[in-house]
Amino acid sequence: MEKIGKRFQGKVAIVTASTQGIGFGIAERLGLEGAAVVISSRRQPNVDEAVEKLKNQGIEVMGLVCHVSNAQHRKDLIKNTIQKYGKLDVVVCNAAANPSVDGILETKESVLDKLWEINVKTSILLLQEVAPHLNKGSSIVFVSSIAGFHPPKGLAMYGVTKTALLGLTKALAAEMAPDTRVNCVAPGFVPTHFASFLTTDEEMKRSLEEKTLLNRLGTTQDMAAAVAYLASDDAAYVTGETLIVAGGMPSRL
Ligand code: NAP
Repeated sequence: MEKIGKRFQGKVAIVTASTQGIGFGIAERLGLEGAAVVISSRRQPNVDEAVEKLKNQGIEVMGLVCHVSNAQHRKDLIKNTIQKYGKLDVVVCNAAANPSVDGILETKESVLDKLWEINVKTSILLLQEVAPHLNKGSSIVFVSSIAGFHPPKGLAMYGVTKTALLGLTKALAAEMAPDTRVNCVAPGFVPTHFASFLTTDEEMKRSLEEKTLLNRLGTTQDMAAAVAYLASDDAAYVTGETLIVAGGMPSRL
C-alpha cells in the first residue's frame, strides 16, 4: 500500500455496504488515495468500528447507518454527504444478499423479491437520488460477481441478479454519459463473511482455487484496486464495461 497514488485527492466517494469485506476494502483504498469516504451498513456498531479503523489510517471518513432497502436511509446518506462535503464524485454500489442456496425453481417468492431488491433495485433507487448531485467527471461502479457470468449451483438466482448488473452498467452508461461514467467489477471468490460458506470448507476452497489460473482466491485489496482504477481518471475513456477480477477463472456469458 506504500506506493499507491493520490488519484482521489479532493474527491468525495460513497461506498454502500462498506463496514467490512470488499466494501470496506474499497473505502479504504479510495480513502488512502485521498478521497473523503462515506461508509455505511445496517448496524451502528459496525459503522463505528469501521470509521475508527479508517480514521486511524488518516482517512477523512463519515459513517452512517444505511440499510440499502430503507428509502429514508438512502435519502439521509445523500443528504448528509452533500451537507458535509458539498459534492459527490464517486458512488460504489456494493450491497448484496444471498439468502438461499435453493435451485431457482424451488426459490420462494419472498426470496426472489429480496434478491432482486437488495442486489439490483436498491442500487437503481440510490442512483436516482444521487444523480442530481453528481459532478461532471463523476463515476459509478457496481459490484457484480463472477457468478453473474456463470450462475453456479447454490448461487444460481443470486448469480442471475449479478448478471442483471452487467446490463444495468451498459444501460446507465448510455443514460449518464458524457458527464458520468458507469462501470462494474465482477469479483471472483474472496474469503469474506459473505462467502464463508464456500471458503471455510477446505475442500471447497481448494476446488475454487483450482478453477483460477493464479491458484488462489481473491483478496479485498484485489477488488479495491480494480474499483479504484475504474472510478479514477485513469479510466477516463472507459464506460459501460465490466472488469472481471477472478484470477483467470472462466467467465463468459
Ligand atoms: P461481507 O464481507 O459479508 O460484507 C458485507 C457488508 O455489507 C457488511 O459491511 C455488512 O454490514 C453490509 N451489508 C449487508 N447487507 C446490507 C444491506 N442490506 N444494506 C447495507 N449494508 C449491508 O460481503 P462481501 O463478500 O464483501 O460482499 C460485498 C459485495 O461483493 C457483494 O455485492 C457481493 O455480492 C460481492 N461479491 C462477493 C464475492 C465474495 O466471494 N466475497 C464474490 C463476488 C461478488 P452490516 O452487517 O452492518 O449491514
